[in-house]
Amino acid sequence: MTFILLTMLLMLGIGLLFWLPKFRLQRAIARPFPRHYAQILRMNVPVFTKMPADLQLQLKRLIQQFLHQKKFVGCDGLTITDEIRVTIAGKACLLLLNRATRVYPDLAFILVYPSAFIVPRSEVAAGGLVTRRNDALLGESWSDDRVILAWDHVKRSNADLGVGHEVGHDVVLHEFAHQLDSESGSTNGAPYLMSRARYERWSAVFLQEFALLQEAARHQSVSVIDHYGATNPAEFFAVATEAFFEKSVALGQEHPALFAALREYYCVDPREWQ
Ligand SMILES: [Zn+2]
Repeated sequence: MTFILLTMLLMLGIGLLFWLPKFRLQRAIARPFPRHYAQILRMNVPVFTKMPADLQLQLKRLIQQFLHQKKFVGCDGLTITDEIRVTIAGKACLLLLNRATRVYPDLAFILVYPSAFIVPRSEVAAGGLVTRRNDALLGESWSDDRVILAWDHVKRSNADLGVGHEVGHDVVLHEFAHQLDSESGSTNGAPYLMSRARYERWSAVFLQEFALLQEAARHQSVSVIDHYGATNPAEFFAVATEAFFEKSVALGQEHPALFAALREYYCVDPREWQ
């Protein structure tokens, strides 16, 4: 009798263990979207105001899930505010709209610095000589559990319809594209695509476009895709994602095959939000 009771209690405990997080998540998503969150989106994710109502609703739900599941950590004395959380979540979740996907399942932490952060690097040359240097970064994505961002550059990217050298660049879109890329098991420029046929189509388009960008970078010719994407296929996917959302009309005109591949993957057409 005691054994049966203990077994039942154990099963109940295990059931609760699985049910409770889902219940909490459903409750978080069902909560009304705070008005000041919507205000932050209008200010810092201006594309939100141009989306149709169904996409706005989707984005709000994704943001609520993101905020419920991910932990923000302020670094170098930065205090995490709702503006920081909602702005980063809003941009990160733009990449998930209309897609049957989870919300960055491997990501647990977003570390936010006030401005560019220093990362020590070491390189081993062919002869075994180790050189060390400090790199100042605006963002970094780790495939295990974290994204690191410089808040002043996140803010500057927000002026995506503004002027200056930041036009068309968005550090949040860039780093979260790396997160999607790493979901396939390796960060190599090909995110998870579900079928072999889609991988074949993807690699045909991306290899050709990557070679074109390398050529453009070599000759320093103007390109709608940042030359930094010529570094390697992973960076190419990240900067192509930035261009897809931030310079969609120009990318569609100048690189129609790449635009079509990205539209198929992201399941949205940002040209409609201009
Ligand atoms: Zn990158």
